[in-house]
Amino acid sequence: MKVTNHLKSGNGKTLFTIEILPPLKGENIKNLYDNIDPLMEFKPPFIDVTYHREEYVYRKKEGGLLDKISTRKRPGTVGICAAIQNHYKVDTVPHIICGGFSKEETENALIDLSFLGVDNVLLLQGDAIKTESKFVAEPDGHRFASELVDQVVRMNKGFYLDEELLHAAPTNFCIGVAGYPEKHFTAPNLKSDLRYLKLKVDMGAEYVVTQMFFDNKKYFEFVAACREAGIQVPIIPGIKPLTGKAQLTVLPKTFHIDIPDELADEADKAKDNVAVKELGIQWAIQQSRELIKAGVPTLHFYSMGKSDPIYRIARELF
Ligand SMILES: Cc1cc2nc3c(=O)[nH]c(=O)nc-3n(C[C@H](O)[C@H](O)[C@H](O)COP(=O)(O)OP(=O)(O)OC[C@H]3O[C@@H](n4cnc5c(N)ncnc54)[C@H](O)[C@@H]3O)c2cc1C
Repeated sequence: MKVTNHLKSGNGKTLFTIEILPPLKGENIKNLYDNIDPLMEFKPPFIDVTYHREEYVYRKKEGGLLDKISTRKRPGTVGICAAIQNHYKVDTVPHIICGGFSKEETENALIDLSFLGVDNVLLLQGDAIKTESKFVAEPDGHRFASELVDQVVRMNKGFYLDEELLHAAPTNFCIGVAGYPEKHFTAPNLKSDLRYLKLKVDMGAEYVVTQMFFDNKKYFEFVAACREAGIQVPIIPGIKPLTGKAQLTVLPKTFHIDIPDELADEADKAKDNVAVKELGIQWAIQQSRELIKAGVPTLHFYSMGKSDPIYRIARELF
């Protein structure tokens, strides 16, 4: 079932949904199930599965020289989606990225997903390769998420890349895209970022999932600015509980977001990471309560491989 239909089926009641990471290469899928199992108590109607592109690692060769090797540490997004749908009978939303893919590879991945009964995709530019300073598109790939939206919309109408392929089976994907209450870090300003968000929606995106934020005011202002700009689709808030002191610097650096003074101050004063985790859980519960009151369609939790803080939050709310 499509994400948009799940959101409607909530009938005004806020749903509980999660984003998970595929396991590290070599790990057993059982570890993933062990992590998700407790959260199934809160009946997520869909689960997002992130996509992780290749990165470069250096291996020492004989004689001291270094070999630059390309490797994907978390492969398996498509397989995990199929496995989860099969195991839990819950819809999945694979993340599909521009980076590292030619248009044809994207098309083939979408064909696989369609055959597997996956009805949803979240379309993204994708992170830059870790050792590279900026995102670089493949020569025959897409540069911006809006181009991916265009490709999926065309496939949904039965237009594949090969123009000679007549009467091809249309796919039927519900399309989500990302939005940034605190602006995407490469956008010169929020107005410009919203212009491109609107482009994604105008091209066919049916809902937006936001980057994590710790101050609800940022989300409410973002939604208001989106509505003013003519973006009318559901805007799903992304929530991530703070779980350790190091995240006070890692999260702003990685995700280009602010941690409110009050939270940063309390976390700084906390005696250890157990106390920071407790603080983060309580903060996320307060954030969630306010968002539920405001009638958000779902609270979308970023698990980042750890479900126990999310379980604690969900137990209070759902
Ligand atoms: C909910 C969510 C899930 C994510 N999941 C993943 C994941 O699974 N894997 C992963 O690698 N990364 C993921 N990311 C990170 C994401 O890939 C990065 O933030 C990336 O840098 C931007 O992706 P985007 O789709 O928002 O890009 P885009 O919408 O393409 O925008 C990128 C930048 O370009 C600008 N822009 C857009 N279109 C144009 C245009 N036509 N001309 C000029 N400028 C333009 C935008 O304003 C923005 O500054 C996720 C992010 C979010 C919020």
